[in-house]
Amino acid sequence: MRYEELTAGLQLCAGERKGSRLTCRGSLFTCSTCGHQGCRQTHDDGCSSQAFSAGGRCLKCGAVNRAENVA
Ligand SMILES: [Zn+2]
Ligand SMILES: [Zn+2]
Repeated sequence: MRYEELTAGLQLCAGERKGSRLTCRGSLFTCSTCGHQGCRQTHDDGCSSQAFSAGGRCLKCGAVNRAENVA
């Protein structure tokens, strides 16, 4: 079985980590203000699919603490 099949159905970030070039696989969050979806990193530009940065700020609309777990 391929790795992708094992993890299918799980909501994990498919972005690429900056620097390491590894798949992120971080938990996904959705912005309840604008609907932007992606992972949360502790600093800006941590992942190609990053949606939230330190403090829970949405990188798209700038809302703070609007990150909701993707069910
Ligand atoms: Zn990510
Ligand atoms: Zn947003």
